[in-house]
Amino acid sequence: MKQLFPYYPIHIFPFCRYNKPMTILDVKNLNLGFNCENGFKQALYNVSFSLDKGKMFALVGESGCGKTISAMSILQLLPKTAKITGGEIIYDGKNILNCTRKEMQKIRGAKIALIPQDPMTSLNPLYTVGDQLLEVLKIHQNLEGKEAFNKAVDAFEMVQIPCPKIRLKSYPHEFSGGMKQRAIIAMALCCNAEILIADEPTTALDVTIQAQIMNILKKIKEQMKTAILLITHDLALVGENADEVSVMYAGRIIENAPANEFFQTPNHPYSIALLNALPSNKNKLLETIQGHPPSIHQIIHGCKFHPRCNYCMDICKQEVPQMFIIEQKHHSACFLNK
Ligand code: SF4
Repeated sequence: MKQLFPYYPIHIFPFCRYNKPMTILDVKNLNLGFNCENGFKQALYNVSFSLDKGKMFALVGESGCGKTISAMSILQLLPKTAKITGGEIIYDGKNILNCTRKEMQKIRGAKIALIPQDPMTSLNPLYTVGDQLLEVLKIHQNLEGKEAFNKAVDAFEMVQIPCPKIRLKSYPHEFSGGMKQRAIIAMALCCNAEILIADEPTTALDVTIQAQIMNILKKIKEQMKTAILLITHDLALVGENADEVSVMYAGRIIENAPANEFFQTPNHPYSIALLNALPSNKNKLLETIQGHPPSIHQIIHGCKFHPRCNYCMDICKQEVPQMFIIEQKHHSACFLNK
């Protein structure tokens, strides 16, 4: 197969966009690192992906692979030690990496909202959930009084919180974990956010509540045409919900594909190993991936997966694999495709 030129600039190839729905956010060749005690350490390498209206895009990978920091770069909620060293994040026709703090405040929450991993710590325990929701409506929509209250009730209904008028007067501790997560989703809905970033949104919840939250996200995606960026390590969740998948490993996207194609014909050895590690009902022993993902302090030449890869060749230890085209919208960074 033919090799593409330098690292992952898939967005510059018009044929990759053929038949694509409307893209509302484009992350292009994002590079980021951290100032550490022993110098600057690169954590993201040319990360590129896009979010389409009414679609759920999943960024998948093990903890520490860079998926959350990629998402936080969009919101510019980065730790002080983090530094974006290259790339663009195009939203509404402009590179939001150049936005001022004030401009970002208008985008954050109102246009691009975050559903965090832990709903327990995302609401202020001293105020009722309704007060917090009404504050969001006042800041981002300039709505107050009855109009704001009605909008809050509608949002609670959309996320299936029963007796919304009563529940708006409850304090966060009176809500279960699932209800808190729904209240946070309701805040994003109130502002008609175009993009929802759901960072492991169901990790802290039990399985039945997980399914309810994912159903709500799917409904929002379909009815309100919201673009959803799902950050997760849970491939089962991706298989059931996402439209497109990118797999990250050690700060790089190593495979991207439409979700159905990814699950039917995964290409990259790391993706295949992840899928083989999923529990099946065929009484098979669970497969594991030997070793650990590298930290940003470890220097690994060539393909960063090579110390764990069963198919490692000489070239893998010397050169970084570029993205190879597998199918029209399916790419994989592995020399086996050369
Ligand atoms: Fe394995 Fe080489 Fe492919 Fe990396 S490039 S995944 S080491 S075969």
